[in-house]
Amino acid sequence: MSKTYDVIVVGVGGMGAAACHQLARRGQRVLGLEKFAIGHAMGSSHGLTRILRLAYFEGSAYVPLVQRARDLWIETGKRIGEPLFFETGALEIAGETSDHIERSRQSCLDHGLAHTLLDRDAVERRYPAFRLPKDSIALFQPESGFVASERAILAHVGLALADSAEIRGQEPLLDWEPTAEGGVRVRTGRGTYEAGRLVLSPGAWIGKIVPALAPVTSVVRQSLGWFAPLQPELLAMDRFPAFTLDVDEGGFYGFPLWGHPGFKLGSPHWGGDPFDPDTPTREPAPAHEAVLRRCLERYIPAAAGTTLGLKACLYTMTPDEHFIIDTLPDHPQVIVASPCSGHGYKFASAVGEVLADLATAGRSRFDLSLFSLGRLAERRERDGFGNSA
Ligand SMILES: Cc1cc2nc3c(=O)[nH]c(=O)nc-3n(C[C@H](O)[C@H](O)[C@H](O)COP(=O)(O)OP(=O)(O)OC[C@H]3O[C@@H](n4cnc5c(N)ncnc54)[C@H](O)[C@@H]3O)c2cc1C
Repeated sequence: MSKTYDVIVVGVGGMGAAACHQLARRGQRVLGLEKFAIGHAMGSSHGLTRILRLAYFEGSAYVPLVQRARDLWIETGKRIGEPLFFETGALEIAGETSDHIERSRQSCLDHGLAHTLLDRDAVERRYPAFRLPKDSIALFQPESGFVASERAILAHVGLALADSAEIRGQEPLLDWEPTAEGGVRVRTGRGTYEAGRLVLSPGAWIGKIVPALAPVTSVVRQSLGWFAPLQPELLAMDRFPAFTLDVDEGGFYGFPLWGHPGFKLGSPHWGGDPFDPDTPTREPAPAHEAVLRRCLERYIPAAAGTTLGLKACLYTMTPDEHFIIDTLPDHPQVIVASPCSGHGYKFASAVGEVLADLATAGRSRFDLSLFSLGRLAERRERDGFGNSA
């Protein structure tokens, strides 16, 4: 006979771990199934840090969700006795002709967020590690910073276990089916389990588990690096913010020194070709190192020391780069969560809460229309975009 639960969560990465925690906290009988070890480096959430920006050029509608996420990161950090969110401020830098800064500023105005606009000289005075192009402008948002991402997954899983969730690592879902009673039955190599609700948060594997989503999601490999700082004092937490930098060479992001002797730099614009997440290794693309190094030498020379390490990580993109958080149209007992497109981690704590709300109450207090499956179907009909991975 199958073991039964209230909710089964498939994929215990950034989003799934938060969902397990939020569900178990409410007294739900939860089973979390994870394909690899808890806290692995094959998906999208590994690495020590993720930027949390409250100013949101991707859309003002994200701000209430990221504000809630920030509160939850702080609250959970207090509960485990170790901070998960670090308020270093976040600096977004772009050319004055780009609309990036204006869109971020608008999101600050819409939601009453503290912010400061800075010209190039002001940025360089405040943060002498930067050497920016003449026409640069920047928006600084002081309540932003970064989240300790790997640590947060382990924290959420630890809290879920303490609240009696059952978490099974190294146990991939093989398939699932609806039951006659309106629930779900899932099968793994080790057993069959039933539940009233199923949360699918498998990150880059979403198109494999829900084939209908394969045409509207594509997986790309991102490379990032850690570089020996030449002037570490300019890159310390109290002197340097989390940042994004849009320059002629592309987009880059980075962090103050924290938890690793190297300066972490990534570039979301060098994703390369579609990537099959079942590829057994995660080798970084060799060409990316040169791109990252050029950026450091030109714009952040204080961090342009030797390469300490390179890693690859996966983005799961939607065509409009907004998330997918919705129930499946034919199976309302199944909730799909693919909050990535390269900017999802900061939201994970709040997405866990949203998923728990959807699983237990059938609704969330947040407006999720931006993340609906319906908007992708409409767009597909209109633009006819195809599958890329
Ligand atoms: C290099 C890089 C930098 C980023 N920087 C930022 C940033 O600064 N700020 C930000 O907000 N976001 C950032 N992001 C995006 C963010 O990291 C992702 O949005 C987030 O990690 C996605 O979490 P997830 O839970 O959807 O995926 P994951 O954490 O990958 O979790 C999915 C899990 O599902 C498991 N799984 C898959 N198939 C199965 C199966 N059949 N059975 C059981 N389990 C399964 C996987 O093994 C995995 O553990 C970045 C991403 C990358 C790659």
